[in-house]
Amino acid sequence: ATRTGPPPREVGTHCPYCALQCGMVLRDTDDGRTEVQPRQFPTNRGGLCQKGWTAADLLDHPDRLTTPLVRDPSGELRPASWQVALDRIADGLRTVQRTHGRDAVAVFGGGGLTNEKAYALGKFARVALRTRHIDYNGRWCMSSAAAAGLRAFGVDRGLPFPLTDLGRTDTLLLVGANPAETMPPLMRHVTDQRARGGRLIVVDPRLTATARQADLHLQPLPGTDLAVANALLHIALTEGLIDRDYVAARTEGFDAVRRTVAEYWPAEVERLSGIPVADLEATARALGTAASAIILTARGAEQHAKGVDTVSAYVNLALALGLPGRPHSGYGCLTGQGNGQGGREHGQKADQLPGYRKIDDPAARAHVAGVWGVDPAELPGPGVPAYQLLDSLGTPDGPRALLVFGSNPVVSAPRAARVESRLRGLDLLVVADFLRSETAELADVVLPVAQWAEEDGTMTNLEGRVLRRRALREPPPGVRTDLAVLADLAARLDDTDPVPAGPGTGPAGAADGPAPVTTPERFPTDPRVVFAELRRASAGGVADYAGVSWERIESADGVFWPCPDPDGPDSPRLFADTFPTPTGRARFHAVRHRPAAEPVCADYPLHFTTGRVLAQYQSGTQTRRVDALRRAAPHGFVELHPDLAARLGVDDGDEVRVASRRGELRAPARLSPTIRPDTVFAPFHWPGAARANSVTNDALDPVSGMPEFKICAVRVERA
Ligand code: SF4
Repeated sequence: ATRTGPPPREVGTHCPYCALQCGMVLRDTDDGRTEVQPRQFPTNRGGLCQKGWTAADLLDHPDRLTTPLVRDPSGELRPASWQVALDRIADGLRTVQRTHGRDAVAVFGGGGLTNEKAYALGKFARVALRTRHIDYNGRWCMSSAAAAGLRAFGVDRGLPFPLTDLGRTDTLLLVGANPAETMPPLMRHVTDQRARGGRLIVVDPRLTATARQADLHLQPLPGTDLAVANALLHIALTEGLIDRDYVAARTEGFDAVRRTVAEYWPAEVERLSGIPVADLEATARALGTAASAIILTARGAEQHAKGVDTVSAYVNLALALGLPGRPHSGYGCLTGQGNGQGGREHGQKADQLPGYRKIDDPAARAHVAGVWGVDPAELPGPGVPAYQLLDSLGTPDGPRALLVFGSNPVVSAPRAARVESRLRGLDLLVVADFLRSETAELADVVLPVAQWAEEDGTMTNLEGRVLRRRALREPPPGVRTDLAVLADLAARLDDTDPVPAGPGTGPAGAADGPAPVTTPERFPTDPRVVFAELRRASAGGVADYAGVSWERIESADGVFWPCPDPDGPDSPRLFADTFPTPTGRARFHAVRHRPAAEPVCADYPLHFTTGRVLAQYQSGTQTRRVDALRRAAPHGFVELHPDLAARLGVDDGDEVRVASRRGELRAPARLSPTIRPDTVFAPFHWPGAARANSVTNDALDPVSGMPEFKICAVRVERA
């Protein structure tokens, strides 16, 4: 990237993309470029993937937005001043709320926003807009693991131990996780583990880059991970591998689980999943006889309408073997987005307030309202999960205006064509981004905001480690930070004219009454000031940041939450002595396999599943614009087994059509013997004809609201 503006300098920071948050140095060079160099950090140990290496390429990209865009009467997005753009938004929000009630405005956030921005966005929704409708795209990332972890352990932290423990565990079981492609530097820890004689077992319907390195690859039918876990626990019980002392002393609810898994005979599960009994037995023994073992799940296991129960099945297995809290052992979830962990701790979620507090808990409401300087009765109640929210937009009872920060649901939402039509039906759509995403293309107003290397802040990685993101430079002229945008909007909404609760408010909405004071002081633009407030708001909560300061983060390799005391220790490892549940014990949950929400049939005879490729990230808004990444992964594709391709008369490279009951995608076929012949796969990074989420199912997990991204029924034919 070519540098303009400030003199050459360098900062130690972290990659803008995934939850590994690799350490890197960002440096302006004498010849006017900005370069990235990896730096030693415990998660990446000096490594970066190609996305990290090319992260600076977007800083001065020609597609960079540097002026607000406002849709004119002819339907075109045209450059406008900030005053015009913000006035248009404020007028639109006020009109919608006065006509339809406060809940007629919704906010949609992102798992890539810093902790400060996630916190400010939740506060803005509840204090400035007083709407209950806020949720974020992290709902589609790890919400199933979050819910399962919370109900078992009383806390949701992706990894309750440092990532370095992977390198020292004897048996590592990865379920629906492909870090060799999604987080390549993580594999350095796995390489260590293997070098020490450790065993790696991977459960995945595809022979992925990670599965290729495994001692044992279990290749189940998509959607059968839960049954596989119950069979593993069945075998562990039969073979006497259960840690009975641990179960008796540190858990509750095991009897119901024991009765349930007794039904999961390995031979039955072999018929259901396709995994041979011998492999199930080898896996159970590798876990149950090891001195240390770690079980990790990721999106493959979690993005199902039974995602919470699937994760609970693996948590049950970990608890029965006595793993959580034991050295170099336990259960964990590989969170995906850069701040997927922090993003869910500070109030972006429909049901949560900062500190990972429940929004319907009176004590939590009182604490947070006190920090925000409002009456607890003024705080709205819980909203609805992300997909439900998007699917209600523009409907008679749904919101009529939406503010989107750091997300691109036109590409990333399930059943995306339907979401797109909902967005088109809004009275007002506002998108804050630094590039014109597919969602921004539909907006009435687009606000150009700062990107990663242009602002300070904190991120919380997949280990629950709070990190410092450091600015290398100021935002370019015409660009504002998200915090400044929220402050500007809050100031415009700050009037004494009360907005009625109105017909769209619903039973959970806030009481009618005067609008709260939303002075600029209430929405500070300095991230350091926001973080100080966030610490107070989180104090005493599950995710307690009260003892975390920017100085403390900088004096070490980050700070692990909970950290309630500035002078006390942080918490790299959880559960050594107790679990943060009312009884101090972890809780088993008996769970049963159930079929996919949409079984295959004569018309749609194949299973469809989605995932990522190494060179692209999420909806691709950023990585599709980086030359090196575009060359490495230029377009979408459909992966299918050669036997299936032969039956369909498809050759490698032929364009194929994948159709479900909801829509279709078209992309070149990529033939590979690494996938099951009854399953096809497509990556979800591309819009347009290759949009994988045109096909996916919007069936939701009843607990987490996670859509069933990972399995639906399709037919495939040559296009
Ligand atoms: Fe960035 Fe993730 Fe790649 Fe590390 S693994 S360089 S954090 S995208």
